Amino acid sequence: MTGKVTLHDGTTIPQLGFGTFKVPPEETAATVATALEVGYRHIDTAQGYGNEAGVGEAIVASGIARDEIYVTSKLANSKHRRDDVLSSFDETLEKLRLDRLDLFLIHWPLPGLYDGDFVSTWKAMLELVEDGRLTSAGVSNFQPDHLEQIITATGVAPVVNQIEVHPFFRNEGARDASHAHGIAVEAWGPLARGEAVADPEVQDIAATLGRAPSQVVLRWHLQRGDIVFPKSMHRERMEENFQIFDFGLSEEDMARIDALDRGAMGRQGPDPDTFNPS
Ligand code: NDP
Repeated sequence: MTGKVTLHDGTTIPQLGFGTFKVPPEETAATVATALEVGYRHIDTAQGYGNEAGVGEAIVASGIARDEIYVTSKLANSKHRRDDVLSSFDETLEKLRLDRLDLFLIHWPLPGLYDGDFVSTWKAMLELVEDGRLTSAGVSNFQPDHLEQIITATGVAPVVNQIEVHPFFRNEGARDASHAHGIAVEAWGPLARGEAVADPEVQDIAATLGRAPSQVVLRWHLQRGDIVFPKSMHRERMEENFQIFDFGLSEEDMARIDALDRGAMGRQGPDPDTFNPS
């Protein structure tokens, strides 16, 4: 069993989910089917990953009740204009074979594109919630000032901000700004794309506790209150990453992992302030 986090709109989300970035479209149905068998009930995908159809196929084939699975997708960077938000959301529902999506995120703020206007994009996301086919709207990779802008303009805060967070990049500025608005933090790349598992400090803590390094890193995220969805193509790793609710890290262990932070140097993905893909 995984724990749940209550979002500011009153809905709940499993704190542990399964990520699908770089899961090839043709392998997605089988990979997500395995994740569901292992016990994951929260799947994170995106229009930009090209694998929503595989996620939908796995959900239908699993026979698991719709209300027992939490599904997130994200708006493609090419779809920020209002009409594109609405039409691409329809396509997302169709590919996922759902009549309602739990959570939809603006994937990147893209401050250098669309005349810097992500407020209109946010308003279109809120239209989807009013329409009833989207339960909750959120954002991803939003910096503190991006959050301020959409909240000031609409009075509505996203339920989550999905941002890069891992031991090498704690991203406390964006985390603190999110929390100040009651926004839950989703930590993407929670294992630093696998690199955190190889860290000597993490391995030392893991050896002392008799746990896997990945479990130690994911447990660190959970104890910080963040939502995580590690990705793996391997069943044994999916199982390992799922067994993190039966042990705890001491304050000292938490502090040792905190100390691995390299600030902005630790970023593995793009800087949201300058990421404006053409
Ligand atoms: P993760 O931090 O989840 O790391 C995934 C990598 O770690 C893979 O190479 C995987 O290898 C390896 N791995 C997984 N489990 C273990 C384990 N137990 N032991 C050793 N290695 C392991 O990186 P992601 O970038 O995938 O981030 C997670 C999710 O976050 C994504 O899948 C996506 O859903 C989301 N995301 C969102 C972004 C955004 O902009 N909003 C950006 C990036 C990610 P293998 O698959 O071979 O097992």
